[in-house]
Amino acid sequence: MVEIKTDAALEAMREAGRVVAHALAAVQEAAAVGVGLRELDGVARDVLDKAGARSPFLGYHPSFAPAPFPAVICASVNDAVVHGVPDGYRLRDGDLVSVDCGAVLDGWTGDAAISFTVGAADPADLTLIETTRRALDAGIAAAVTGNRVGDISHAIGQVARAARYGMPADLGGHGIGRRMHEDPHVPNRGRPGRGFPLRHGLVLAIEPMLMAGGRDAYRTAPDGWTLRTADGSRAAHIEHTVAVTEDGPRILTLP
Ligand code: MG
Ligand code: MG
Repeated sequence: MVEIKTDAALEAMREAGRVVAHALAAVQEAAAVGVGLRELDGVARDVLDKAGARSPFLGYHPSFAPAPFPAVICASVNDAVVHGVPDGYRLRDGDLVSVDCGAVLDGWTGDAAISFTVGAADPADLTLIETTRRALDAGIAAAVTGNRVGDISHAIGQVARAARYGMPADLGGHGIGRRMHEDPHVPNRGRPGRGFPLRHGLVLAIEPMLMAGGRDAYRTAPDGWTLRTADGSRAAHIEHTVAVTEDGPRILTLP
């Protein structure tokens, strides 16, 4: 069931989104060669704690997972696409890192992700990140009243395909509100003019995941959580929580 939010709810979600943005900024600021993924998780935890926010990631236990998620961020490095578990890994020169974070404040949820490089970047990684950013921007631009979810999906997919990147077929964005994952599903590819109609008060997490190797295949790592590209190529993942409004798309996960 799709829940349309009141304007008061949108304002509350904006505050939750602000906490997510601050946590991600702090994580990127702290990320450097030699820094451990658990340290980055601690940085995000501090931001959530100080804001009085709860993590929707910590303890999350969907049916596919062998154990509850142990952290407040997903940290997906290099060939990891999404759902990377912060473990003992320490960042190395040239790593491509995608960090996903959520926050629940006053019962409302924000969800966003960033991708960045550490140390000396491979130009190919910067292009992958920039293209993922463009795919997200295109998806957000399509999140207007009168459009349908398929218009967002199509806009994202067009950018990825034009750049010959792969995308995990069955992963995508989602409605969001009191729960992190609500209807509708927002695929990262699709036909324009199809799917749920967009209207004022619909809030969506829009999140392209692009894989440099150009294939759509991925695999689940032995930890049962981390999804990696099947070909070992690198991946990027960038996400915002976005409200459809009569005044156009409103990004809720900005600082
Ligand atoms: Mg997310
Ligand atoms: Mg999400």
